[in-house]
Amino acid sequence: MTRRGRVLVAVPLVIACVLALLYGLLAVSKSRSFQFFGEIVNRVETDQRVVALTFDDAPTERTAEVLDVLAAARVPATFYAIGRNLEERPDLGRRIVGAGHELGNHTYDHRRMLGTHETPGYVRDQLDRTDARIREAGYSGAITFRPPNGKKLLGLPWELSRRGTTTVTWDVEPDTFHAGDAAAIERYTLDGVRPGSIVLLHPFCEEGCRADREALPRIVDRLRADGYRFVTVGDLLRLR
Ligand SMILES: [Zn+2]
Repeated sequence: MTRRGRVLVAVPLVIACVLALLYGLLAVSKSRSFQFFGEIVNRVETDQRVVALTFDDAPTERTAEVLDVLAAARVPATFYAIGRNLEERPDLGRRIVGAGHELGNHTYDHRRMLGTHETPGYVRDQLDRTDARIREAGYSGAITFRPPNGKKLLGLPWELSRRGTTTVTWDVEPDTFHAGDAAAIERYTLDGVRPGSIVLLHPFCEEGCRADREALPRIVDRLRADGYRFVTVGDLLRLR
């Protein structure tokens, strides 16, 4: 083969390898159950009919509404808090903890951290500032972490693993597929939950999250009628 011929063969091969690598990294960045470093949990293997409800992007003005539903049903849940939101409404953070719920870390300002722009110091700062606000709210248990949009790649899992923090994702994500449709969110959740499931909901934004708020009491009633007991993420992890 001539030199030119070898180049003509090699170039597409290199491009194909680079594309395959990028595709692989993208898949890992989105994976709910795998990351390169540290522990990641998307559900717990158990025979017990237990389920953990988790709410992202807490707290906002809509927090009280969600707390009322949970209180009426006597259901503990886990709120993944944005540090900045907690800083702006510390009263809501204290109310969440006072009602017996768990607070988790969802970064300080909800930026994705895929290693494209953030330094190790930036990652540490996002985690530290949010952990500090969670402690100020009165939560004293182990703090788990949920990445914004479920995205993580290298630096973030490395830092989480260094500090022994568990990444918690989910195995049931109704509003990803049925945003805005309360009946469909309810149906999808009831179909998807199995013993040890972690359900992700977004009940805190205004109009876009109304369906999640509407579906919540019905999801609770139906799962309970189906024999499920509600636990926090911390309680669920202790079943392992
Ligand atoms: Zn989020």
